[in-house]
Amino acid sequence: MDDADSRWAGGGLYVVDNVIRQVGPSSQLPQDADQTIDARDMLILPGMVNTHHHFVQTLTRNLPAAQDANLFNWLRTHYPIWAGLTPEAVYVSSKTAIAELMLSGCTTSSDHTYLWPNGACVDDQIRAAADMGFRFHAARGSMSVGESKGGLPPDYLVESEDQVLRDSERVLEKHHDPRPYAMTRIVLAPCSPFSVSRDLMRESLALARDYGVCSHTHLAETLDEAVYCREKFGRTPVEFAEELGWVGPDVWHAHMVHPSADEISRLGKSHTGIAHCPSSNMRLASGIAPVRSLQQAGARVGLGVDGSASNDGSHMLAEARQAMLLQRVSGNPAAMTAFQALWLATRGGAAVLGREDIGCLAPGMAADFIGYRLDRLALAGGAVHDPLASLVFCHPQAVDLSVINGRVRVKEGCLLETDLDQLVRQHNDLARRLVTR
Ligand SMILES: [Zn+2]
Repeated sequence: MDDADSRWAGGGLYVVDNVIRQVGPSSQLPQDADQTIDARDMLILPGMVNTHHHFVQTLTRNLPAAQDANLFNWLRTHYPIWAGLTPEAVYVSSKTAIAELMLSGCTTSSDHTYLWPNGACVDDQIRAAADMGFRFHAARGSMSVGESKGGLPPDYLVESEDQVLRDSERVLEKHHDPRPYAMTRIVLAPCSPFSVSRDLMRESLALARDYGVCSHTHLAETLDEAVYCREKFGRTPVEFAEELGWVGPDVWHAHMVHPSADEISRLGKSHTGIAHCPSSNMRLASGIAPVRSLQQAGARVGLGVDGSASNDGSHMLAEARQAMLLQRVSGNPAAMTAFQALWLATRGGAAVLGREDIGCLAPGMAADFIGYRLDRLALAGGAVHDPLASLVFCHPQAVDLSVINGRVRVKEGCLLETDLDQLVRQHNDLARRLVTR
């Protein structure tokens, strides 16, 4: 995934601390490493970068009442349940989502949680990511316009705008690390045009730009949203974002399923970022995002698994596969190649998060890399012809190896330092309590 698209058979990486120093044939690398990882029979790739998620939704996957709903009804079903979230539920669900992401090949993720009831806060998520050794961009999400003011969420779930801005500033001061190879960065992320005010969109963006951090929201996801924006603001969702300054190299939008041709061109010129979430878009019947056109216009495009209640999995490699297949549905079998899908999942995602130190294996990049054994059943008869493409065309597999910031986090397919059985038990108890409370 470097600029030259370099590939090595019998290749290796030489890492010092948390940074890649050399990439090339193993025989030409320094032979004096303290630790050597034998990755024979594996395909090694840069760790994947997930650009959109809602970790807490792992607690409410495939709720029967929302299995077949469109976005607005899906949200209305979930809001009262999410109102029962607690700091513990946020912490445990974040660990669950991160465990699933890590095993699927993801080494960096953003999360966009936009409701903070019962004392829950971004800090609970940051602690979960730190405990797992996972690179994390925490988006401090928010909702401020409840039903009584014409918004979609119930009034009891929205925060005052003062509180949102005060807590955003607190989180920025406490957690944001602007340095290269940072493990924790902060993003400001009002939820969507139908749940925050214009004022909050403007003030949140201004605060983010003061601190030099990125801004994120949901935009142009469904046709319902387009109707809402037309009726409420007299604009399309993209025009609404543009009016508020919500475009540019420090902004990314989740979904962008329904931009017009002119809007695609403008989003490209401003280098706005897009988190493409193919599984979620299929699950909620939102549509097919024009990701190749957006990319060709100059937009930064990455992949997002989206919340686990609208996918309902946190599997990055599966998402790359969905991205490739979904682009083909409308009639062109070459609309997206396996390589292009993996590029979106790595380089593309890094660009969306505004990072130049991850997403590619090259000297000076963070030591974030993953390995898949190629001699496994699902790839039999595939990897022998084209190992890279087999990862995307064949059934998506879990990683055998994951190294994040120079530390081995998955070895022989097992998450080190996490008791998965216990985590799943704890998560399921919380999930049951949340829906039956
Ligand atoms: Zn989302």
